[in-house]
Amino acid sequence: QWIYLDGQYVTKENAKVSVFDHGFLYGDGIFEGIRIYNGNIFKCKEHLDRLYDSAKSIMLDIPLSYDEMREAMAETIRRNEMRNGYIRLVVSRGYGNLGIDPLRCEKASVVIIVEELSIYPEEAYLKGLRTISVSQRRNIPDALNPKIKSLNYLNNVLVKIQSNHAGAGEAIMLNSQGYVTEGSSDNIFIVKNGVLITPPCYLGALEGITRNAIIELADKIGLPFKEQPFTLHDVYVADEVFFTGTAAEVIAAYEVDGRTIGDGVAGPITLKLLEEFRQIVDKDGYK
Ligand code: PMP
Repeated sequence: QWIYLDGQYVTKENAKVSVFDHGFLYGDGIFEGIRIYNGNIFKCKEHLDRLYDSAKSIMLDIPLSYDEMREAMAETIRRNEMRNGYIRLVVSRGYGNLGIDPLRCEKASVVIIVEELSIYPEEAYLKGLRTISVSQRRNIPDALNPKIKSLNYLNNVLVKIQSNHAGAGEAIMLNSQGYVTEGSSDNIFIVKNGVLITPPCYLGALEGITRNAIIELADKIGLPFKEQPFTLHDVYVADEVFFTGTAAEVIAAYEVDGRTIGDGVAGPITLKLLEEFRQIVDKDGYK
């Protein structure tokens, strides 16, 4: 496995970052998770836009131009001869001293990892996941805007811990006002009376690339769609509930906090959107 690390291609054993890196010390950095389908980087532009916007927002200078970054990703894929898999792109503030001051970090560090992806078995897509809501609250937009895909994932990790503890497959997070925001690492949608609904990102959800692709697909197939705040009650009484994300694609929740959703299996609209999504994954790519 070849890993891109600050301009070099190194083996997994040699892919090491300093303990003085501010990504390690403070979670000071950003990342992207991207899919490779048939050798294509899916939604490459959208992911790079989000990465460079996140960087600008936290005043992080990425030492590669947009095109250089795209080329470094493509070269990492080529060196690993990967046709289908996952790309993890990490840009940290870089090597500094123990103080938090980013001015002490001379240059951001860029890492590109390409790996096989362990995905849910196909049965899980047909049945869905058992899910719970969790007590962790998503930060409402402040300095750490949910649009920034930062390395500060402790909140999400705590959600995962609670979800694991309950034996659930995914968890639903709310914001401090009680509105549903997203899953531990996925966006959430509900379907009620034939209308597709997802929370606005300003409530505290990442603007997921898969989320946006699903909204486009809904438009394409003539499925009514609204972005609207909703609560757990709306989730419990929804006809369908599903999550979207780069790794998960589109996966249903058949149960939320003990309430069965719809018929207790993935609903027809969820499956239709998954099918449509799988038809577009080969397109929109960068080789
Ligand atoms: N929300 C969070 C918190 C995430 O980390 C992710 C990505 N893993 C998503 C939503 C889904 O975003 P995307 O569709 O861009 O993968």
